[in-house]
Amino acid sequence: MVCTGGRGVRTEEIASGLAGVEERIGEACRAAGRDRGEVTLIAVTKTYPASDVRILSELGVRDVGENRDQEAAAKARQCADLPLTWHFVGQLQTNKVRSVVGYADVIHAVDRGRLVEVISREAVKQGREIGCLVQVALDDDPARGGVGPADVPALAAEIDAAPGIWLGGVMAVAPLGEDPAKAFARLRDVALGVQERHPRATMISAGMSEDLADAVAHGATHVRVGTALLGRRKLFVR
Ligand SMILES: *Cc1c(COP(=O)(O)O)cnc(C)c1O
Repeated sequence: MVCTGGRGVRTEEIASGLAGVEERIGEACRAAGRDRGEVTLIAVTKTYPASDVRILSELGVRDVGENRDQEAAAKARQCADLPLTWHFVGQLQTNKVRSVVGYADVIHAVDRGRLVEVISREAVKQGREIGCLVQVALDDDPARGGVGPADVPALAAEIDAAPGIWLGGVMAVAPLGEDPAKAFARLRDVALGVQERHPRATMISAGMSEDLADAVAHGATHVRVGTALLGRRKLFVR
């Protein structure tokens, strides 16, 4: 029998995934001459149970990400006692905003003015202050969401001006079939453009299990990691 030091098998699995991810982030920071403290790990817990969120919290993770409201709302309720920041990283339909604003601290994929209006209205109504990131499209695939780089400044200004929400910065998903490093370099240019007008909007949410090192090399402040922490998801949810 393997000695787990009193910890359960799942805790050991997650601790080992976390150690591996920490090592990769640390190495990428060293290579880029960045301080480890500049990069926040968001554990993307979609399809995994609230018990895994609890384990992550015990292991010191403070940021979790989800991409479907129904699942996220239930998990956030079950984990309401934990000191966690909740990130909603998926595409968001306006009819889900009321629910999402109830538990999310940061919404990553803001990609249209209508969404800004609805999030702002709900945040004010619920007395919440929600961080919003502009999702930037790094290719022409509409299925991946986001606004083209040319449309980012206008959307960022709308977020900045709206009550109940604050402009955090930008977010992107690397395009398929392109070197992610090149895409993340473009994202950093877009982010710096936003920061010229909004100096406090310093968040760059980029990088997942496969490409987190490229993202850190190109200035990511938040990496969103699921598979490398928790294992391969059985359901296909992107
Ligand atoms: C699922 C998801 C992730 C995590 O992806 P992994 O490859 O499992 O690390 C990151 N960002 C978004 C938007 C996601 O939906």
